[in-house]
Amino acid sequence: MAIERTLSIVKPDGVANGYIGKIIARFEEEGLNIRALRKVQLTVSQAQGFYAEHAARPFFGELVEFMTSGPVVLMVLEGENAVSANREIMGATDPLQADEGTLRRLYAESKGRNTVHGSDSPTSAAREIDYFFSQAFDLV
Ligand code: ADP
Ligand code: MG
Repeated sequence: MAIERTLSIVKPDGVANGYIGKIIARFEEEGLNIRALRKVQLTVSQAQGFYAEHAARPFFGELVEFMTSGPVVLMVLEGENAVSANREIMGATDPLQADEGTLRRLYAESKGRNTVHGSDSPTSAAREIDYFFSQAFDLV
């Protein structure tokens, strides 16, 4: 077991549909510590940079448009195996494939509008946390 950090985002659909509180409550219930939290409206260039690994994918334009369509909530979660723990809590990318009780199964509208983001590895988590947060000032 290792204490890890991971980046979570409540995406624009999750914010617009009123699920911020339920999502944060779930992380706390599952023993993940919220080390940083901020609500922001992403710019197009911020969203493009965040999802740079998907730049060549056919859904990239749709993804950037969606992620900039309204405010999002950025969080740093910390806990035992936080990266994989968060991915399990989130469920599969497509809510139709996501397990019962996962956030995406409960709240997501579609494969694109799927309520939450979570880093997919410790390496991605480090990059994504640095992208949005300052270790020195934002993590408490
Ligand atoms: P995950 O968020 O589960 O790690 P990916 O990294 O593969 O999934 O994709 C990033 C995001 O891009 C997804 O969460 C989703 O919002 C969007 N996305 C992925 N695949 C599609 C698709 N086929 N059509 C539309 N949007 C997609
Ligand atoms: Mg991913």
